[in-house]
Amino acid sequence: MTRDLETDGAAKVFDPLWGEILEVGRHAGTGGYRRYAWSDADLTLREWFRGCATARSMDLQEDRNGNLWAWWLPRDWVGDPKGAFVTGSHLDSVPDGGAFDGPLGIVSAFAAVDLLRARGIEPSIPVAVVAFSDEEGARFGVACIGSQLATGALAPERALGLRDIDGITLAEALTRAGRAPEHLGADPTLTDRVAVFVELHIEQGRALDLVDRPLALASSIWPHGRWEFDFTGEANHAGATRLIDRHDPMLAFASTVHTARAEAAALDAVATFGKVLVAPNGTNAIPSRVRAWLDARAADQPTLEALVARITARARSHAAADGIDLEILAESITPIVDFPEAPRTRLARSLAHLGDLPVIPTAAGHDAGILSDTIPTAMLFVRNPTGVSHSPAEHAAPADCHTGACALAEVMTAWITEPAR
Ligand SMILES: [Zn+2]
Repeated sequence: MTRDLETDGAAKVFDPLWGEILEVGRHAGTGGYRRYAWSDADLTLREWFRGCATARSMDLQEDRNGNLWAWWLPRDWVGDPKGAFVTGSHLDSVPDGGAFDGPLGIVSAFAAVDLLRARGIEPSIPVAVVAFSDEEGARFGVACIGSQLATGALAPERALGLRDIDGITLAEALTRAGRAPEHLGADPTLTDRVAVFVELHIEQGRALDLVDRPLALASSIWPHGRWEFDFTGEANHAGATRLIDRHDPMLAFASTVHTARAEAAALDAVATFGKVLVAPNGTNAIPSRVRAWLDARAADQPTLEALVARITARARSHAAADGIDLEILAESITPIVDFPEAPRTRLARSLAHLGDLPVIPTAAGHDAGILSDTIPTAMLFVRNPTGVSHSPAEHAAPADCHTGACALAEVMTAWITEPAR
């Protein structure tokens, strides 16, 4: 009964917040979200975040890398926040993404703050809700730009020169958004300020549905990366050019797609070509160039390396057979993340009333993974009944979202009122 009452309480704070952003960046045709970093939709969501902070009398800070922090400080706290309990996620999306990937963690975080305040709980240490900038990397090609800059994993010089599909650099996009690109860089206060970062996220698979449980804790993130394959051939007439005279880069690309699938299957891994740019992109022209991006992920580092080595070698032989050039560029590689045991155990203890929570790995990247080299991190997953993600069909049941917000409130309560054991 108590639990039901608390879930009702979560619905009251969660649902209105969720409703406020439901239409932001949603494409009328596809129903998917196009919330790219520093786009109008992203700026609207940033303003919404600012409003959430203001409405709760939380101090809003945008750090040097565009990450947003809403601070709830203990009464009588003096000076900069230190040793904080931090929770949140990201607001940006992939092209035509779902509503939950990212925003669920931020809405749940504000809802958790509201639940604590409704219970009259005061923090004994600083609390922050955070929105990390450009997690998906949909616009500039590199994922987790905000958290990677903060930890120093991504050099500001490289970040500033990244270009979107229209040739606009991140530096230009920041300037247009009224930000100062010269400020980008590692955040030396991160380790001091943050005692733990807990990211609540929709599950991007069906592990929880298969065991009929609403929540899980994360064990690890598969190593993964992105590689650009640039096949260059020779444009020519699609009718008048004899097959034997062609240097068509589409063929080597197509063979490479099949190769990637076969090699991934052989290694129990995954490999995807999901983004392709074709030039000149004419129906009656043999392409001159095909640029395609490989996303590859595996359970461990040696398997991922073997997978990419095999795909690369076979792509080169496909290209050689057709007399075309191939350049391969590693755009970003993220090593395996094993989430530390201590914070996970503490989370499990504060959620003991939900029974033994499943502990599952994920093949999706997250800011929590990037940060785990620098600060203690943990993740909570909310059930996704279809497993569909990075799609307009991505979904979590309202009851599970409320359970997630309640769980985050329990975790927050335990962390900020009890000493570490
Ligand atoms: Zn996400």
